[in-house]
Amino acid sequence: MLRLHDTASGRTEELETRAPGRAGLYICGSTVYGPPHIGHGRFSLVYDILRRFLEYRGMAVDHVSNVTDIDDKIINKANEEHRSSEDVAAQYEEEWWGAMSSLGCLLPTQIPHATAFIEQMVELISALAGRGSAYETSDGVYFAVSAVADYGLLAHQSLDSLRSGARVEVNEEKRSPLDFALWKKAKPGEPWWASPWGPGRPGWHTECVVMSLALLGDGFDLHGGGQDLIFPHHENERAQSVAVGRPFARRWMHNGMVEARGGEKMSKSLGNVLLLSDLFEQTDPRAYRLLVLQSHYRAPIEVTTTTLGDAESALDRLDMLSGRLAEAVAAAEPSDEAAAGGSAAGGSGAGGSGAGAEVRRAFVERMQDDLDTPGATAGLFDAIRKANVAFDARESSRGAELAQAVLECFGAVGLEAKRAAEIPESVLELGRRRDRARAGRDFSAADSLRAEIVGLGYVVEDTPGGTRIRR
Ligand SMILES: [Zn+2]
Repeated sequence: MLRLHDTASGRTEELETRAPGRAGLYICGSTVYGPPHIGHGRFSLVYDILRRFLEYRGMAVDHVSNVTDIDDKIINKANEEHRSSEDVAAQYEEEWWGAMSSLGCLLPTQIPHATAFIEQMVELISALAGRGSAYETSDGVYFAVSAVADYGLLAHQSLDSLRSGARVEVNEEKRSPLDFALWKKAKPGEPWWASPWGPGRPGWHTECVVMSLALLGDGFDLHGGGQDLIFPHHENERAQSVAVGRPFARRWMHNGMVEARGGEKMSKSLGNVLLLSDLFEQTDPRAYRLLVLQSHYRAPIEVTTTTLGDAESALDRLDMLSGRLAEAVAAAEPSDEAAAGGSAAGGSGAGGSGAGAEVRRAFVERMQDDLDTPGATAGLFDAIRKANVAFDARESSRGAELAQAVLECFGAVGLEAKRAAEIPESVLELGRRRDRARAGRDFSAADSLRAEIVGLGYVVEDTPGGTRIRR
């Protein structure tokens, strides 16, 4: 079973779900007021990898991720650009899903929009006010954090220490600087919805608590997001749920941040924030998924041209392997049981024994240990090396078995191999002529054939199985 680090308990524990075989995940999504950047890409990849791995292990996953389509930032942007906040939100939501699709992220199974849940949010705020956990001021309705005995659970700080660290408050009507807005009364010209406190809009922390409980139910399995959301966003979501007596998320998962630094800058940047669209211009989007896989999800990652370039080179090795597997399968005679084709058809599958089964077993074991994707990925690259050794030694069956396991495991975390560009038959024929020349000990002919192949832009390698040509 998957073990995950739980932010609330500070321990790594088994993910025991409410319903066996089914996991309900709520992942805080995007506030759509600007183009998505690499930090958004990372959290989307982390939770896509988690979801895909759970599905690979046979679980059904309810993956809910919201779109915050009403917020101060959206309103500010709309005012700056003299257009409606709906217009701003629609444009950036489209950009968001386009970028996620380029990253190969599955669409969440449900995508609630904040503006579709305003009525339920008003109900929650009314319930909180009815219990004395919320109070009205001239500009909105606030949650009184003193109403929750264990406020600070996720931050791992006491209410007193959080209070002393809080910023000096300008709003004198708030009872504590930690109290947060549940409802914001509309200023002239702002979008608004009706409420018992007059026209206004909900606060961000109220959106997620309402949508997660509405779609996944009380005590849902896991709540995730970036580490920057632990406090105050997730602390405040939880506080509202506790204050109305509803069990909230059983587990909390948070991913580390992205550090874009180093001397080698990428082409364009918005302040220090690199956009996903810039990244896609410069690199295979799969390289970013691989970079995310090669880092532990709780650790920071550094995204530079160097780290992305290294990931692209590693991808070449995966793509090359996929090409070699296809060649081995094509070369095998259907009637030849011992050849690669026979093995390729019959030797795969999780229940198999031997080299492929060992690759799968090690992969699953690493992934189940708090998603140790760096360990799992290193194991798969080691298996790529072994598969190439086997193919070089003309052990096609072993090579194919290893290659299939590697492709399956990478596929389980959303990284698909592409066939490396095919080598034209005329070039392959030059390689075969070179092998015949070498077999006949005509080394000067072999050398000139090598020079001819290299002159066409290919790399020539000598292997025990003969000449190997790569682009
Ligand atoms: Zn949220």
